[in-house]
Amino acid sequence: MAAGTVTLPQLVDWITRFSAVVTENRSYLTELDSAIGDADHGANMARGMTAVVEKIGAAPASAVDELFKSVGMTLVSSVGGASGPLYGTFFLRFGTTAGAATELDAAALGAALRAGLEGVVARGKAEVGDKTMLDSMVPALDAFDAEVASGADAAAAASAAASAAAIGRDATEPLVARKGRASYLGDRSSGHLDPGATSTAYLFQTLSEALA
Ligand code: ADP
Ligand code: MG
Repeated sequence: MAAGTVTLPQLVDWITRFSAVVTENRSYLTELDSAIGDADHGANMARGMTAVVEKIGAAPASAVDELFKSVGMTLVSSVGGASGPLYGTFFLRFGTTAGAATELDAAALGAALRAGLEGVVARGKAEVGDKTMLDSMVPALDAFDAEVASGADAAAAASAAASAAAIGRDATEPLVARKGRASYLGDRSSGHLDPGATSTAYLFQTLSEALA
């Protein structure tokens, strides 16, 4: 294994940690979604990621594309809400772009994450500022790429991405939602954190932990 590369077991660890954190914060995510949605984001994420961890434990993948195909397909099929297809698409595109590798360098990880983001945009048609998961995902990926461009390794880039995702999550509070269920509330969606931006901050926090 070359120094600084991200291994398949580290990527499995990322997914496992993400599942644990969304499950631990299930009530909190649901509370956020009860303010501006239908109170199911915690249940959706916990159910979907629990199914993912069972699936990848029962049929361990031998390459990155195989792992994330399994993660993405399981989310799409086990979560009914908007978040299932959106996170599912993120992981499916991540896997397709990473390809049949068993490890990724920082640039390859960044390219896979960027492809995942583009999948979310293609599927959900949201932009930064619409009060969605993109409000933490876009700054996270911009921070990741900036770190890699200045010579950082994947762990340092993921750490910067996690910080940027948390700032992006916090910045959703005053926003008025323009996509998803929260947009039905109009101005009343302001004053609450976006649930999906909050779970996406966990996605980057756990990536950083898995690579640390
Ligand atoms: P649902 O809204 O179907 O109940 P969830 O509650 O699981 O699904 O997820 C809601 C989250 O999904 C929102 O907080 C938001 O971050 C995200 N979301 C909704 N619509 C979009 C979209 N079009 N693009 C990106 N993210 C979206
Ligand atoms: Mg919901």
